[in-house]
Amino acid sequence: MADSRKASLNTATVRKQWALAQCIEGCARHGFAGIAPWRDMLAEMGVKHAARQIREAGLRVSGLCRGGMFPAGDAVGRAAALEDNRRAVDEAAAIGAECLVLVVGGLPEGSKDLVDARAQVRDGIAATLDYARQVPMPLAIEPLHPMYAADRACVNTLSEANDLCDALGPGLGIALDVYHVWWDPALAGEIARAGAERLLAFHLCDWLVPTRDLLLDRGMMGDGVIDLPLFRHQVEATGFDGLYEVEIFSAENWWTRDPDEVMRVIIERIETFV
Ligand code: ZN
Repeated sequence: MADSRKASLNTATVRKQWALAQCIEGCARHGFAGIAPWRDMLAEMGVKHAARQIREAGLRVSGLCRGGMFPAGDAVGRAAALEDNRRAVDEAAAIGAECLVLVVGGLPEGSKDLVDARAQVRDGIAATLDYARQVPMPLAIEPLHPMYAADRACVNTLSEANDLCDALGPGLGIALDVYHVWWDPALAGEIARAGAERLLAFHLCDWLVPTRDLLLDRGMMGDGVIDLPLFRHQVEATGFDGLYEVEIFSAENWWTRDPDEVMRVIIERIETFV
């Protein structure tokens, strides 16, 4: 079905088994086109060293995970978040990332004011965008499933992400992760609305039934209930030509396996279930 030569490894998928250097080697060995590192793994390896290894391996960088986490309880916290996001933009540029993924943040500690949190997110993205446009580094809002609205991201639908893109203008797009948005009845229309210009990243995994953990029980493509071929066709009908970034947090299954097996299964499943 899908072309596995477009596979990209989000390093969270094997983060318990491999450091970033091993992920880079593994991607090259298994014929992946790209990689999407997390910042903690990037920091551990060193940004310059990682950038060189990734380049030498001939890999694209489908995104850097992640910036965002804008809302805070006071001005000091908000300023610190902006500073951290500028650093994230610089790191993304240093490794040649195609976008910086934004997990925008939820409620500040002790707050119940979701309206204010969403306003802080908008202001934080706007401020970061001023910087990112000069670099230039595209920013990709990742709408997260509403179960994360309190602690991870209060942008929960593709419609909200599209509205933010409309409001804040060029340089801002969307990282579309099937896990977070597959349930949305407005999905098809909102994918078309986003279009290839805004769709900066496409994250794959599957939704398991039952899901045993809200964060760490994502499924491998084909093991769950998401109609991945339909989803991919909708995304590619816009003209999207990016990589298939596989991002699976799986404490009890995929994180316990031989990472070379995980890499092989990813390739097989892209070919058979995506
Ligand atoms: Zn994702």
